[in-house]
Order: sequence, then C-alpha cells, then structure tokens
Amino acid sequence: MRTRPALAPLLSLLAASLLAGCAPGGDAGEVDDAAEDGKADGLTANAKVVYLNFGGGTIAHGDCNDATASCSSMVLYDQTPIPAFDASPYGARSTIVNKIVADVRRYYAGLDVRFTTTRPASGDYRMVMIGGKSLDSLGVWVLGRSYLDCGGGNGRAIAFVAPKHDSRPTPDASFDLLAPYDPLSGFRPAPEIQEWDEPLTEIPRAIAHELGHTFGLIHTVGFSASNPSPADIMCEEAACRSESAFSFHDREMGVDAGQGHCDDSGVQSSLGLLQIAIGVAK
Ligand SMILES: [Zn+2]
Repeated sequence: MRTRPALAPLLSLLAASLLAGCAPGGDAGEVDDAAEDGKADGLTANAKVVYLNFGGGTIAHGDCNDATASCSSMVLYDQTPIPAFDASPYGARSTIVNKIVADVRRYYAGLDVRFTTTRPASGDYRMVMIGGKSLDSLGVWVLGRSYLDCGGGNGRAIAFVAPKHDSRPTPDASFDLLAPYDPLSGFRPAPEIQEWDEPLTEIPRAIAHELGHTFGLIHTVGFSASNPSPADIMCEEAACRSESAFSFHDREMGVDAGQGHCDDSGVQSSLGLLQIAIGVAK
C-alpha cells in the first residue's frame, strides 16, 4: 500500500533508523555497475566493498555479524527470510534501485568504498539487506538497524533497512538500534492495521546511516548537525529528520553518546571519521 497522506507526519518520525542485514541472492545485472571496477571512481585495490542486497534472502540467527555467511545476531529466527525490496510503491524497479544506489554512492563519494548490487564471489564485504518489515525480521519497529563498530574493523558487517511498516503494536518501537523510541514524539501505532512505505528519499539515507554505524559513527546532535542545510546523515533529531537533503558533515558536531560511543571526545566529524575508517579515493 502506498503511503497515506495522513501518515506523512508520522513517517518522518521513523525516517532515520538504521538496520543492517544480508541474504543470499541479489540483483545481478540490475544496476549499471560500469564504475564498479573502481577505475572510474579512483578507488584503490584495498577499497572496502559494500553489497547492497535488494534481492532478499535468508539470514541465519547466531552469535555472528557476517555478511559472507549470511549470519546475524539481530534477526528473529534461526532462518529469517528477508523479502526482496518492493519498488512498486515508487516506480519501475530498475529505475528506483539505480536511484537508491546512485544516492548512496554520492553520500560516500571520495571515499575508498565500492558499492555493488551483486554478491561478491570472494573477499570481505559488508551487506545491507534492503526490504521487508523490521517487525517480521528483527522484532523491532525501525527503518534501519546495524551495530556500532568502533573503527569499522568488521569488514563483513550486516545492516538492515526495512522500508515497509505497519501498525502492529510493539513494545520496542524505535528509530534504530542506537535511538530508542522517543516518548516526546507521542507516536503510537494505530489500533487498526495500516501499512505504508517509507518515502523514497529515506531509503538511501537509511542505508548510508546504517553503514555509517558499521564504520564507527554515532548519532550527531545539535545546531551544527542540521545547519546549514543539508543535515548530517548521522543526525536523528527532529530538525535533521525534517530536512530533505543530507550529507556526511566535515565538521565537528555534538554527539548523542548515551547509547554507545567510541571515544570520550563528545564530538564527531562524520566525514572525517569515515575518511579514517574507510580511506579516501585517489
Ligand atoms: Zn543510527
């Protein structure tokens, strides 16, 4: 079902969550991957690899966070099905997937990271599972979820982005793993089952945000996170969520360290940290 206009204000409250996930299969050939050899983007032979999985698959539950094994401690079941991304609310599948991938690449432009929609045959890679409803796969109501990995040492991390929502009650509604449900928002599920899809702009943002956690970024807060526009991708405050354009800011911002942090500095330059964790393209 398409987004209902009456729910639009509620969608923004859910917009910034981050999840990570992975699954077998993929969308080989769906996206024009002409630049994926890295040459066009100046990537090095040591470029990090991120597999954007729009094709769905099964993630095994275990004490693990391993894209190459399709195994994560975040999923609900021993074998948790993750449906393929449903592009139908937005438009033609190839067009929509290409747009999402292009937006994610733009957010990470200049960094030594290669995005692909085809599962790599070998080597380490992160994976973002894009599809389905988080209540079905993760048991929490979020747009995205991933683990904060200080320094980004786990090159096989899985993140989840689940663009579909419905109003089944959950005691654990939250924006994402690092951002618990904000009681100030007053948002509660409606008593009847309704279903909607995230606005398209939120999907690449959520992918970029969840991946940011896997590279050691935490949430940014305060005036400098949203001013001047665009908003920092790692910011989940209302002022940031209401923005329509996003980037990783190259300046020190305040952080929300209450749910985990990697140092005690109290500040974060999101782009600066990514440049350290990922490296820069030539
Ligand atoms: Zn987050």
